[in-house]
Amino acid sequence: MTAPSVPADLRRPALAAADPELAALVAAEERLQADTLRLIPSENYVSAAVLEASGTVLQNKYSEGYPGKRYYEGQQIIDQVETLTAERAKGLFGMDHANVQPYSGSPANLAVYLAFLKPGDTVLGMSLPMGGHLTHGWGVSATGTWFNGVQYGVRRDTGRVDLDEVRDLALAERPKLIFCGGTAVPREIDFAGFASIAREVGAVLVADIAHIAGLIAGGAHPSPAPHVDVVSTTTHKTLRGPRGAMLLSRAEHARAIDRAVFPGLQGGPHNQTTAAIGVALREAATPDFRSYARDVVTNARTLGEELAARGFDLVSGGTDNHLLLIDLTAKDVPGKVAAKALDRAGIVVNHNSVPYDTRKPFDPSGIRIGTPALTSRGIPASEMATVAEWITRVVQAARTGDESTVSEVRSEVKALMDGYPAPGLPVS
Ligand SMILES: *Cc1c(COP(=O)(O)O)cnc(C)c1O
Repeated sequence: MTAPSVPADLRRPALAAADPELAALVAAEERLQADTLRLIPSENYVSAAVLEASGTVLQNKYSEGYPGKRYYEGQQIIDQVETLTAERAKGLFGMDHANVQPYSGSPANLAVYLAFLKPGDTVLGMSLPMGGHLTHGWGVSATGTWFNGVQYGVRRDTGRVDLDEVRDLALAERPKLIFCGGTAVPREIDFAGFASIAREVGAVLVADIAHIAGLIAGGAHPSPAPHVDVVSTTTHKTLRGPRGAMLLSRAEHARAIDRAVFPGLQGGPHNQTTAAIGVALREAATPDFRSYARDVVTNARTLGEELAARGFDLVSGGTDNHLLLIDLTAKDVPGKVAAKALDRAGIVVNHNSVPYDTRKPFDPSGIRIGTPALTSRGIPASEMATVAEWITRVVQAARTGDESTVSEVRSEVKALMDGYPAPGLPVS
């Protein structure tokens, strides 16, 4: 999967000649991604094949509409690209219908609102500071200003969603749409439990699997397919495809979803992205990807145990998936201070609110970390003690202002990364 060792200007000779400034920035980003331990749970390394598909002449083509029903001519090839990709998506996720045109996860979710709701209608979703996504009806999002967003959270004592609370809210508010899933949820999502609530109140149920799509495809998390009306997902997180999104649904909702994406919300689809999604879906259907998905979860669980053993406070006590949410209150370091120090040490995480956070969202108490990217490099569970030890030293150093420990860790990180070349990147 690793690209051959070729200098950046020879890897991209036309770009280097036409725009040395941007070519140098791309090469610098490659170096950064090669040399750092990337622990942001929504990020990954795509394969060289996905990268190649993303940068093709398919991007030169306008194709508003759907295969066989376009508003522009010359679709002999593009129709095949989109049909092939949609068929792979349906097969992999076991849903009747797939729309592979949404530009990204947020517009995909907006299309779901457009398909089923009128402005002012009620949507029930997980609140942002409890682990939900902006687009699940949070106030600053269009979804929370144009629609009536009602939000559930997690229990203070367990850090987990309480389906009794969700059901009470649903019965009181009668939402037309319910979202399950989120962006900082370390635990398995009970799709069947949400489905019985949605049925009881007559709501459309959407599983937003943006974070865990790759785990579901690889059999490392239960599938929403038997339970939900619509599945919304990005393609660039654990699924390890290009930046993009898909909406999958039961047959009865196919027309509403398609009309909402186009002409409701978007113009021409990004055909180069569609092709790259197709490549990622083919990769995700292989036995190798099943082991990848399993290893992502094993690495996260092992890293969680190693961190807990070093006194870190994990929201919900651990993880069932690829991510860990860590409350740093007991370590006496704000999330942002810790995240910045870790970044200087070559360990890239993001600061994050924790449930019932007493600090503000732009300066929260926690950090969020995940294992999809490091697992794509082939880093095994046996290295998680080392990673946990680095995090421990740097968080401690952040508290005391000990920059020499930070630079020590930086060179240890670089040495380990040199041993595990990343897919799609040149090796040094
Ligand atoms: C990442 C994410 C999205 C949005 O995806 P973008 O491509 O960043 O717009 C939507 N929902 C969830 C749960 C996510 O994690």
